[in-house]
Amino acid sequence: MLQDWRKELRRLVILMLVAAFIGVLAGQVAIAIIATLLLYLARTFYQLRRLDRWINQSEAGVSTSPPESVGFWGDIFDGIYRLQKRERQAIQRLQAILDKAQESSAALEVAIITLDNDGALDWWNDAAETLLGLKYPTDRHQAIGNLVRDPKFSDYFNNERYTDPLKLVSPVNKNIILEFQIALFGERERLIMVRDITPLHRLEQMRTDFVGNVSHELRTPITVISGYLENLLENGEDLGAKWKIPLQQMQQQARRMENIVRDLLLLSNLETTVITPQQEEVNLLSLLREISNDTGEVFQDREHELELVCDSRLTVKGVRGELYSAISNLVFNAAKYTPRGGLITLSAGTDTSCLFVEVSDNGIGIEEQHVARLTERFYRVDNSRSTDTGGTGLGLAIVKHILMRHNGQLLIRTEPGKGSRFVCRFPLNRLANQESVDELAE
Ligand code: ADP
Repeated sequence: MLQDWRKELRRLVILMLVAAFIGVLAGQVAIAIIATLLLYLARTFYQLRRLDRWINQSEAGVSTSPPESVGFWGDIFDGIYRLQKRERQAIQRLQAILDKAQESSAALEVAIITLDNDGALDWWNDAAETLLGLKYPTDRHQAIGNLVRDPKFSDYFNNERYTDPLKLVSPVNKNIILEFQIALFGERERLIMVRDITPLHRLEQMRTDFVGNVSHELRTPITVISGYLENLLENGEDLGAKWKIPLQQMQQQARRMENIVRDLLLLSNLETTVITPQQEEVNLLSLLREISNDTGEVFQDREHELELVCDSRLTVKGVRGELYSAISNLVFNAAKYTPRGGLITLSAGTDTSCLFVEVSDNGIGIEEQHVARLTERFYRVDNSRSTDTGGTGLGLAIVKHILMRHNGQLLIRTEPGKGSRFVCRFPLNRLANQESVDELAE
C-alpha cells in the first residue's frame, strides 16, 4: 500500500511539472497549475462517489463486483473487495458451524435453552418444546419466569448458586420429573439444561420407601429382643458366668441395631416429608446451652471442656427438633472423637453473607481424603474407631439433610491430630430478628 501511495504521489508531482511547463509555454503558470489541481480533485471525488455507491449497494445486500479502475483507486477497490470476500467466507463458515450445532442439539434428549442477560428466552432446541412446552416464535424474548412458574425455580434462578441441580415437576405433564441445571456465561447470559429424570426419581423413591419400610418392620423385633436381653441380664444371678459375656455382647449389638434403625427411620422421614412452612423462632443460645448440657451428661466420664459463644439475641427460623438433632450430632461426634480432657467449642454468629453455627474440637481430626465422603450414609473413616464409639455412620448424613431442609450447608475443616471444625451455614434470611442482629454488628 505504501508503494501505491508513493506511485500516486510521483504521478501528482509529474502532473504538476507538466502543468507548470505548459503554463510557462502559455505564459499562465498559475492558471495551468490550478486547473490541473481542480481536475485532479474532481477525479478524486468521482472515485470516492463510486466507492460510496458500491459500499452502499454491498450493505443493502446486493453483491456486485467493485467499480472498474486502474492505478491507485483500482488497488483500493480490489483491496476492499478482497476483505469483503474474506468476511463473507468467515460468516458462511460460522453459519455452517451454527447450523451443525443446532442440528445436533435438536437430536438431543436434553433440553437446552439460552437466555439473554435479562433472563429472556433467546434460543432453545426441540427437546425444550417437549419437556417445557416452549413454542417458537411466540415464546422468544419472553422472561423464563413467565413460562416456568414454580416459586422454587425463581428462587433457584435468582439465587445464582447453580452448583446443585434443581428437581421440578414438568409444567406440561405432572408425571414427569425434570432436573434443571443452569450455567452463567458471557455477559451474564445463561444456559439452562433440562433433563427428564422420571425413571431415576422413581428408583430413588423405591429405595427410600424400601429403607423406610424395612427399618419400620425391624423396629419392633429389635425392641423385643433388647427388652428380653435387658431382663435376662438384670436377673443374671441365676445364669451361669458362661452366659453373662455372650448376653452382654448380644445386648451391645442389639443396641447398635436399635440406633441404626432409629437413624434410618429419621433419615427416611427427612427425605420423604416436606418441611413445615410455619416454622418456629428458635433462640440459638438456649438451643446450644441445652445441647452442651446434654453432651456434658452423656460424656461425663470424658471430662471435656465445653465452651459456648453465642449472643442471646440470635434467633433462627426453623424446626427446633431438627436443629437440635443436627447440631447435637456434631457435638456428640466432637465428644466421641476428642480424647479425655479435650476442648469442644460451640459458637454461633453472623458474617456478611450468612448465619453460622460452628462446632470445633481439638480431637483426632480426619484425613483429607475422607472429608468429601463423610456425609454419605454409612461412610466411616475407620470402622473400628466408630463401632467402639457406638456410631452408626448415619449422623453426618442426617446433619446434611436437616441443613438442606433449612437451606443451609455443611462446611468441614479438619486436620489429623489437631482437630475438626464443622460449620453449619444458613442464609441470612433464616434470621428471625434481623434488626437486633444489625445492632449486634454495630
Ligand atoms: P458415626 O455415627 O460413625 O460417628 P457420622 O456420620 O456421624 O458417623 O460420622 C462419620 C465419620 O466421620 C465418623 O465415623 C468419624 O470417623 C468421622 N468424624 C465425624 N466427626 C468427627 C470429629 N469431630 N472428629 C473426628 N472424626 C469425626
